[in-house]
Order: sequence, then C-alpha cells, then structure tokens
Amino acid sequence: SEAGEEKDLVIIGGGVAGYVAAIKAGQEGFKVACIEKRGSLGGTCLNVGCIPSKSLLNNSHLYHQILHDSKSRGIEVGDVKLNLSQLMKAKEQSVTGLTKGIEFLFKKNGVEYVKGTGSFVDEHTVKVDLNEGGETTLKGKNIIIATGSEATPFPGLEIDEKRVVSSTGALSLEKVPESLVVIGGGIIGLEMASVWSRLGAKVTVVEFLGQIGGPGMDTEISKTAQKILKKQGIDFKLNTKVVSGDTTGDKIKLEVDAAKGGKPETLEGDVVLVAIGRRPYTEGLGLENIGLDVDERGRVVIDSEYRTKHPHIRCVGDVTFGPMLAHKAEDEGLAVVEYLKKGYGHVNYGCIPAVMYTHPEVAWVGQTEQDLKSQNIAYKVGSFPFSANSRAKTNADAEGIVKVIADAETDRLLGVHIVGPGAGEMIAEGTLALEYGASSEDIARTTHAHPTLSEALKEAAMATYNRAIHF
Ligand code: FAD
Ligand code: NAD
Repeated sequence: SEAGEEKDLVIIGGGVAGYVAAIKAGQEGFKVACIEKRGSLGGTCLNVGCIPSKSLLNNSHLYHQILHDSKSRGIEVGDVKLNLSQLMKAKEQSVTGLTKGIEFLFKKNGVEYVKGTGSFVDEHTVKVDLNEGGETTLKGKNIIIATGSEATPFPGLEIDEKRVVSSTGALSLEKVPESLVVIGGGIIGLEMASVWSRLGAKVTVVEFLGQIGGPGMDTEISKTAQKILKKQGIDFKLNTKVVSGDTTGDKIKLEVDAAKGGKPETLEGDVVLVAIGRRPYTEGLGLENIGLDVDERGRVVIDSEYRTKHPHIRCVGDVTFGPMLAHKAEDEGLAVVEYLKKGYGHVNYGCIPAVMYTHPEVAWVGQTEQDLKSQNIAYKVGSFPFSANSRAKTNADAEGIVKVIADAETDRLLGVHIVGPGAGEMIAEGTLALEYGASSEDIARTTHAHPTLSEALKEAAMATYNRAIHF
C-alpha cells in the first residue's frame, strides 16, 4: 500500500468482526484495508477458538463413542488407538482451509490485506509495523477497531502453554495428561474438559459459582448438563475458588477454598487450564494517541451505533460491550458497515444464541428462569425430555431436555433452553421464533418433520399452554 493513500475504511483486526466488516465493505464498494498481525485471518475464532475446538470436540467424541458406545449398536471394532498427532493434524487442516478461504474472499471482494500490527498515530492515521519488517502508514476516512480479546491471566500462575495453559495451549497438548485441573467451569473450561476427558485424562473442574456454564445458563439446564458430564467422568468442585498455585514440583499444586464453609484443599494436576474468562485486547493500539478511553473492564467505549467519541472511529466484537461470541462479532461487523453506508444497522442483543459444544450440547436463547424471577416477570414453562423423543431414542442418544419459557399472560416466547443432542442446530429455530416475536403456540402449531429431534421443541412449546402428547 502506498504510504499516506487514503482509504474509505481501515479496519484494525482480521478476526470475525473485522474480516466480516471488510468483506461487506468491499461488497458495498468501499476502498478498504484490513490490518492483521497474526499472519492469518479469522482471529481467535478460526485460529485458536471456535474452529480448532470443534474439530477436537467432534473427533474426540467419535473416538469415545467407538470405544464405549458401539458394541450395543452392532458395530464391533478391533484395536482402537488414539493417534493424537493425527487428531491435531486434522484440526490444523480445518483451520488452514478456513483461514485461506477468507484470504480468497478478501481478494474476491477487493479488500487489501495488510499483514502487521496497527497503531494509531492520529485520528485518521494508522501506522503498521509489517510482519515482514518495515512499516507503512494507512489513512482512513473511517476506521474500525476490531482487535478482539485475550485470555484473562490468573495472578500467580504464569501461563507457559505447556503445563499451565490457556485455551490456546489446551488445543495443542502434545500428549494426553494423566490429570487435568480446569480453573473456571465456563464454556471454554467445559469444552476442553470434555475433549481431554474423552481422550483419557482425569479431569477436575473448579468453579467459583454454584453452577457450571457461567451465570448466563439456565440453572435447571446447568444442573442437568452437570449430571450428564459427571457421568462421563468429569469431576466438579463448585462454589470453590482457586487461591494460589505452585508449579515447582512434578505436579502442579492448587490451593482451593470452598466458598461455603468447606475446608481448604490442595488439588494436583499434570496440566492446569486457566479458563476464567477473556478480556478486551487493546495493547499497543495507541488509543492514548487519540484520547480514547477504555472502561473499568478494558472495553472500548462506544454508543449504540458503534461510534467511539471520534464518530469516524467505530468499534465492534470482543473488544467492546456484549457477549464474547463469534456470531455476535460477525453481526456487528455487518451492522457497522451498514451504518457507514446507509446510516442504519441492526443487531438484536436480546436474541443472541449461545451454544456449548459438549455432548450433549447445551444451547439457549433469550431469558433464563433466574433472569425472569429477578425481574418479577410472570412466565410459564413447558419442558420435554429427549427420552420421550422418538428420534433421540432411536439414536440411543436421549439424554437432556428442551425447555420453553413464555409470557404467562400473552404466551409470547421469552426463552428457549436445550440440553440434548443437536441442541446447537435446534436453537436456530428458537432464535428465529424469538426474533419474530412468536408465541409458544406459534411454534407448537408449526408442523415439524417426523422423526426429528426438533419435535422435542414443538412438544415443549405445546407444554407451555397445554399438554405434550408424548410425555
Ligand atoms: P478476535 O477473533 O480476537 O480477532 C481480533 C484479531 O485482531 C486477532 O486476530 C488479533 O491478532 C488482531 N489484532 C489485535 N490487535 C491488533 C493490532 N493492533 N493490529 C493488527 N491486528 C490486531 N465463539 C462462538 O461464538 N462459538 C464458539 O464455539 C467459540 N469457541 C471459542 C473457543 C475458544 C477456545 C475461544 C478462546 C473462543 C471461542 N469463541 C467462540 C469466542 C470467539 O472466538 C470470539 O468471540 C471471536 O473470535 C471474537 O471476534 P473478534 O473479531 O472480535 O476478535
Ligand atoms: P466464562 O466467563 O464463560 O467462564 C469463566 C468461569 O470461570 C466463570 O464461570 C467464573 O465464575 C469462573 N471463575 C472465575 N474466576 C475463578 C476462580 N478464581 N476460580 C474458579 N472459577 C473461576 O469464560 P471462558 O469460559 O474463559 O470463555 C471466555 C469467552 O469465550 C466467553 O465469553 C465465552 O462465551 C467465549 N467462548 C464461547 C464458546 C462457545 O460459544 N461455544 C466457546 C469457548 C469460549
């Protein structure tokens, strides 16, 4: 890029938020450049997040199923062996295929891809330290900050990505550890606990709160999920806080304190995963050079149109407010370009689905029972167990429930919560219904194909105002 040449739009960060905004801007005819320092596009999600974790989850599930759940299905296998390096290779292939795909889409849509680290010089100028050496300068009429997030460190336990790992190290362990202690029973903790437990590690999850899955998961669903994961061999210590760690010995020692009157205890693990959340990433971005502030949690402050206090500098994705989810980042990437092009855009923050890709999956959208209780909103609940769903039973994969929550008076859908097979795909229906202001009766009166898992959602919806047929 010519130093000093002015773009319509300069995007800092080629993660989901940034790359989607870049492609959309290219499609809209903007002269656009996207700066990414990682050496590949797609950000956390494609490189060290959503995609590699799902590859490991899928293949470790297959392995575990072949080992423990094939004989009764009439499939007899001989020697089943884990080839961890091949499992990792398959993961790397899925990542590379997708990140290269985005490079192709950049070319196709006329997006200039600048490989390097961007930092603000002034309100319209970004200096880029190029990965290949040297630097360049980009000028933008508009600039989007999409620099994402990083793992929150645990004070006193330095992450070496070998023995003390963040999710990044947990996606690339060179051997299956005998024992793994996971600090934090949120989504990352539980997905990684599932992977390594299936591959043979003894896994203990230590969670500060009284439930797994984070506070956003419906408590009844969380309890059901925990029971199922416990049966799979994962140990849980809830209401328990890790206070300190010692990495000097053969095993890593963690001092933990039970919050509710229990005794302090020492846990030991060959590997410890720190999964206590993520924090916005703005290091080296030079926000101070343009007088931009972050809030007490490190988030870049924006208004409802993603504008910082310099209106031509906008910000989307994990580095600002809202749930740290790829599909939220993606939709903000689209919306921010719509604001630039047309002056209006749209993301419905009340209707963002969340999925935990364990087996069975947990998925939800809208409000939980605990949310509604705390707001004194009168609601009704319809539940349906997968053990009464014909397809789930036929597949011999019938653990879990669907729970539909609707307004007590109007029957308007307020939330859908699922733990069960295929929950992550099924939640799309609940999301669409919620987005369009459906009632639970609307879902129940919609014909669902038989035999499908989605009939469980229909029957749970029926159960909010009437009775389910099969339960
Ligand atoms: P990021 O993806 O973090 O991208 C920001 C990019 O900006 C990075 O590539 C970074 O290198 C670059 N950058 C930063 N500063 C600069 C700079 N100064 N100059 C140039 N480049 C810079 N979400 C889901 O919805 N589903 C999932 O299944 C899921 N699984 C996950 C699993 C794991 C293990 C993790 C860690 C996260 C997961 N997430 C998942 C969350 C998801 O990855 C994030 O919400 C998403 O990546 C956010 O996108 P983003 O573009 O805002 O930020
Ligand atoms: P999280 O905030 O979801 O969970 C962290 C958990 O750690 C919380 O339950 C918290 O109570 C607990 N915790 C905090 N400090 C603790 C301590 N000292 N001892 C014990 N427990 C402690 O964060 P995460 O799981 O690290 O994930 C980070 C982000 O990435 C989240 O926003 C998540 O949504 C996103 N993500 C999404 C997916 C997905 O959508 N499938 C997958 C992975 C990550």
